[in-house]
Amino acid sequence: MSATLGVLLSELEPSWTIEMIERLDDVAMESSNGWNNAGTGHSALAELNYTPEDANGNVQIAKAVEINEAFQISRQFFTHQIGAGVLKDPRSFINSTPHMSFVWGDDNTKFLEKRYEALKASPLFSGMRFSTDHDEIAKWIPLMMEGRDRSQKIAATWSPLGTDVNFGEITHQYIAHLKRQSTFNLHTSSEVKDIQRNADGTWRVSYTNTKDNSATGTINAKFVFLGAGGGALPLLQMSGIPEGDDYAGFPVGGSFLVCDKPGLVNQHLAKAYGQASVGAPPMSVPHFDTRFLDGKRVVLFGPFATFSTKFLKYGSYFDLPASVTLDNIWPMLQVGFDEFNLVEYLAGQLMMSDEDRLQALREYFPQAKAEDWRLWQAGQRVQIIKRDPEKGGVLKLGTEIVSSEDGSIAALLGASPGASTAAPIMLDLLKKVFSKKLATREWQAKVRTIVPTYGVKLNDNPETLAAEWAATADRLQLAITPPAIDISALAKPDNVKPGGEVKRVPDMAL
Ligand SMILES: Cc1cc2nc3c(=O)[nH]c(=O)nc-3n(C[C@H](O)[C@H](O)[C@H](O)COP(=O)(O)OP(=O)(O)OC[C@H]3O[C@@H](n4cnc5c(N)ncnc54)[C@H](O)[C@@H]3O)c2cc1C
Repeated sequence: MSATLGVLLSELEPSWTIEMIERLDDVAMESSNGWNNAGTGHSALAELNYTPEDANGNVQIAKAVEINEAFQISRQFFTHQIGAGVLKDPRSFINSTPHMSFVWGDDNTKFLEKRYEALKASPLFSGMRFSTDHDEIAKWIPLMMEGRDRSQKIAATWSPLGTDVNFGEITHQYIAHLKRQSTFNLHTSSEVKDIQRNADGTWRVSYTNTKDNSATGTINAKFVFLGAGGGALPLLQMSGIPEGDDYAGFPVGGSFLVCDKPGLVNQHLAKAYGQASVGAPPMSVPHFDTRFLDGKRVVLFGPFATFSTKFLKYGSYFDLPASVTLDNIWPMLQVGFDEFNLVEYLAGQLMMSDEDRLQALREYFPQAKAEDWRLWQAGQRVQIIKRDPEKGGVLKLGTEIVSSEDGSIAALLGASPGASTAAPIMLDLLKKVFSKKLATREWQAKVRTIVPTYGVKLNDNPETLAAEWAATADRLQLAITPPAIDISALAKPDNVKPGGEVKRVPDMAL
């Protein structure tokens, strides 16, 4: 998030100086690291939680449209950065990977069909296919169908527009670019320990060296962005701005089963999302995913929810207790009462044995063998708990920008949909804290160079969407012909070979 903002600001205002402070020895070692998240370019093509049913049983697609629109901004942002030489080979960070929903049972099948029909109304979801036929689904996901009971009622949707994204790689490439600017300074192994407002309204940020705890420096800044992932809440509290009083955090981690056996991983090319269990937070929906990491293809299954009082993977067990204040303890307790299903779900996940995890995997890959899989602990997400006038406190599963009234300091809380939406979230941040600058002709022109459809609802403008798809697919080397230009071509077997390789994207470039 901070790297995205850095790249954005350095283009909008090249003369501004930017100091980035990172407590670990390198950037992208926490949630944004490729191994610490699921790498889904969230576009709501597959994630069922973005299309809830209303009281009348109608599938609502407004949230799915919003998430998909946000990813179109990210696609354009990445495309611009390639043109500007900031990002390098697109295969190093983004790869076409069909997104699928995969469910079983009567109710889920009915729901998926209704969802598919509802999404047809939006051009953003063009090219999606629906099937309940075992043989057809086996062409998309052979591994998941091998050895499956043919009498099991299953349904799947398949979209060729999906992507796997290595957000850690993007972060490294952004930072490498920023480091080439004389106006940028990165301080690694430096932990922010204090944030104070100066008499003139600017901020003094103090940090210490994490190697020897020596006091290493202070920076005075006109604007501070607390883009510290799970660590943002404690920093917001440290700043003392009253806007921070409304918030608390609840950490939920994730672990994945990983398989890197070429004989298996080369038979699976999809991110196949299932249905969430009762009480499961949306980000814990199981999915069986192709990933492109460290120059090779692997398959990840999960996430299994984990609990720790740490706000960061490399954080401290005191993170959660230290974040409790007189202002946020009541909202936290209230959420504890109201979200009993979530508590129950987490308890169940924590008690899972290796055998339980293998059984969960076998629902997706019936012939999975324990020896082909290893368990990997991914990152921590700190969910937002916010004071609510009626309920006392509510658990919010999205992200939220919290800023001071004068816009001189802002924090990003929460982590869903996550890194996929870093570019649109940072553009929203500009609106919130640099609104006057953003309104100027100079910034407007630059923002539209970076994101050509800025401010345009692509869902309502299929032709603009088609043009942007064409431009971004070409630059990002994504396999897809924009559906609005030729929707029928999308599903042609010679364009994408389900279960095999996507044409033009056979594997990750090294
Ligand atoms: C299991 C899991 C799966 C996920 N799957 C997806 C997915 O499929 N798609 C998606 O888009 N998103 C996903 N996400 C969310 C995504 O990973 C995050 O939203 C995103 O990486 C957050 O980026 P960030 O820059 O805010 O935080 P981070 O990447 O965590 O970076 C924060 C940085 O701040 C540093 N820091 C913290 N405190 C301090 C301090 N006091 N001083 C100095 N430095 C500090 C940290 O060391 C770290 O480097 C997932 C997350 C998890 C945990």
